[in-house]
Amino acid sequence: MLVVGGFDMHVHSVASDGKYTIREIVDQAKAMGLDGVAITDHDTVQGLADIVTISREMQFPIFPGIEISTVWEGKSVHILGYLFDAHNQVLLDWLEKRQTERIARVRNILAQLREKGVILAEQEILNQQNTGSLGRVHIGLAMIKAGYAYTLDQVFRKWLGEDGPINIPSHKVTPKDAMAIIHQAGGVCAVAHPGLSGCDPWLELFCSWGLDGIEAYHPEHKKKQRKRYIQFAADHGLFLTAGSDFHREGLGCCALVAEALPEQFRIFAGTV
Ligand SMILES: [Zn+2]
Ligand SMILES: [Zn+2]
Repeated sequence: MLVVGGFDMHVHSVASDGKYTIREIVDQAKAMGLDGVAITDHDTVQGLADIVTISREMQFPIFPGIEISTVWEGKSVHILGYLFDAHNQVLLDWLEKRQTERIARVRNILAQLREKGVILAEQEILNQQNTGSLGRVHIGLAMIKAGYAYTLDQVFRKWLGEDGPINIPSHKVTPKDAMAIIHQAGGVCAVAHPGLSGCDPWLELFCSWGLDGIEAYHPEHKKKQRKRYIQFAADHGLFLTAGSDFHREGLGCCALVAEALPEQFRIFAGTV
């Protein structure tokens, strides 16, 4: 898709599972004529420490963001947070606690697998803790790599699924929790790629919890879905957002022109 500028509001860096550093992302974004990016790494704000400096040095707007993994009714729902204070202590403590819980759970599952004769390299799995929510999928992939199974489906059926022999429940973060934590840090929230998460039935409920925006434009959204979310946003007073969900390719393939940015973003980017 030809990019003629705009703000890509959903970009991952090396702080989670992206390929590039924020400086490299800005280099690419500038080269392709984008006007700004939001850095939205999975469940971490570690990458945001230097964005004010980078933004000033490279003269390029960078919005602080995050993509929080949550679960609702058994489905994975991603909540994007924007323009919050990345030094907010309550937010930092909360993110650290979630990470500690995920690591403890992985260790617990690995110990139980060991008892059943499945030996995996614990550190290798824990080293991936920045690549999204560390959990059963990472363990499953390690089991496939080590030859204990051929597919993730098999892993879940035989070992780690709800009915499997090793079922250690995770501390589930709800979309409501994620929104509350972003709001208390002064930010705004949008639901990421609702078309991928299949969370249409709960969008009204999310609004009652204070949802501010919706990512209508995402590379995986079909035209029909996009239209539906644009209408939903208009009916419920949500802001619209657009993001490429860039990890290694496709930066800027979904972007918002400056006039379409909600006011607080334009003020932040200095375009008003
Ligand atoms: Zn996502
Ligand atoms: Zn993402």
